[in-house]
Amino acid sequence: MDTRYIFVTGGVVSSLGKGIISSSLARLLLSRGFKVTIQKFDPYINIDPGTLNPYEHGECYVTVDGHEADLDLGHYERFTNIKTSRANNITTGRIYQTVIDKERRGDYLGKTVQIVPHITDEIKRNVKLLGSTGDYDFVITEIGGTVGDIESLPYIEAVRQLRWELGSKCVCIHLTYVPYIRAAAELKTKPTQHSVKMLQQEGIQPDILVLRTEKDLPAPMRRKVALFCNVSPDAVIQSIDVPSIYQVPLNMHEQRLDDIVLEKTGTPSQGEPDLDKWNHFLNMMQSATDEVRVGLVGKYVQLQDAYKSIDESLFQACTYHGRKLKLTYINSEKVNDGNVDELLSPHDAILVAPGFGQRGTEGKFVALRWCREHKKPTLGICLGMQCMVIEFARNVLHLDDANSVEMDPKTQHNVIDLMEEQKSVTNMGGTMRLGAYACRLKQGSSTARAYGVLNIEERHRHRFEFNDEYRKAFEDAGMKCVGENPETRLVEVVELENHPWYIGVQFHPEYSSTVLNPHPLFMDFIRAAIDEQNKQ
Ligand code: GLN
Repeated sequence: MDTRYIFVTGGVVSSLGKGIISSSLARLLLSRGFKVTIQKFDPYINIDPGTLNPYEHGECYVTVDGHEADLDLGHYERFTNIKTSRANNITTGRIYQTVIDKERRGDYLGKTVQIVPHITDEIKRNVKLLGSTGDYDFVITEIGGTVGDIESLPYIEAVRQLRWELGSKCVCIHLTYVPYIRAAAELKTKPTQHSVKMLQQEGIQPDILVLRTEKDLPAPMRRKVALFCNVSPDAVIQSIDVPSIYQVPLNMHEQRLDDIVLEKTGTPSQGEPDLDKWNHFLNMMQSATDEVRVGLVGKYVQLQDAYKSIDESLFQACTYHGRKLKLTYINSEKVNDGNVDELLSPHDAILVAPGFGQRGTEGKFVALRWCREHKKPTLGICLGMQCMVIEFARNVLHLDDANSVEMDPKTQHNVIDLMEEQKSVTNMGGTMRLGAYACRLKQGSSTARAYGVLNIEERHRHRFEFNDEYRKAFEDAGMKCVGENPETRLVEVVELENHPWYIGVQFHPEYSSTVLNPHPLFMDFIRAAIDEQNKQ
């Protein structure tokens, strides 16, 4: 069948969860047997979000092909179980870069290069790129930002043009917000009406409205929105706050969002979606009562989305163990010898987070020493793994000034060193070791047991690595290098012997944990946490 295009725009305010609505719809269409992908267009000038700090934009997600991407791609993968790529996340920066490169090459020779048609054509080309592979029945395109923003105008214009070209093979969903005014005890639809008007002014008549709301929207209110906005009443759907984002697909299905999309795109229905596995996950989630207490030690703890994929991976693993996750963020800048016992002992397991730069690392060393000596199950990810290595060097190998050259370029004991390939790198954007690489695990190691296989592939995002010159000293003292890249021998995994569970990974397992496929390392980490709890 011809590829159908679904556009998701947002109005009124940001952070309404366009990514969750797009992911939920994708999940429903997949569960009906269609082939689906989701892509996101971000209206900022950065080429990718890799250079944004987490305070600015939450976690930076990484695709298998090494693209630093918006965190919504993490939602897409967690909901759909399908890997995304560089083609699934485009920014204004990339669109302009391509057009400007073409202009320099002379592709537009003799012409004035303009937003319309050159930028909009480039947007349209990218919208259709995944569809043109013939691999998908549906391409869902999420337009970042809010309708009315200057930045998103070229995208909206491109969608307007595509509507004409694609005709009934295209559907526009607009997500808005219905605030509840407490003083008046009333839900207000005016912002939605204005937002739809704005979209109409820009040339797009939405087919479906999804209204985010804290309270149930009565039917007459939905009919009123339908009337004012030229949308059929059954296509005004409410997305009421639910305890878990993973309930949203069911909520959307109850209101027939997937059926309406099929109807409007003239797509024959292949029966009801098969949501058995999804429902199984939700049932496990809802029946879990006993908690697993995990402490996450990191410096970006004030921001909700900074460790999004880690939070979700822990939650998925807990759910499949029939447990509820109690996750506590511990600010690594605040951890010291005086308070470490009080801060860490209430938890069943500790995760030391990825990160960049010196700030907060000393607290990570204190936490890791405590975890190592108190035999607390501990997972170190990326910088967390590097800190495990440094702490061990300082306190077990007695290399007092051991460090990463990232933190101290002059250290005598550079147990974490800049990767050779990074030494000539000057640009900051997109130049880390990125994407999926193979790793071979040592037979008999705890990590190999956790994975159940010896050859794995995981995603990376780093510039520094374990310094191989120290490998023997570490191994002799009990920190084993149990995973390495088969080609370069770069150390990817370390673990402690004589410890119930102390594993550090240079890669990011959190990027590949999904609702239907929880990650084996997180599964085993939570298993160890439960064992720890049972001991107490
Ligand atoms: N800053 C470290 C490096 O670049 C770790 C990066 C990370 O935790 N993602 O190697």
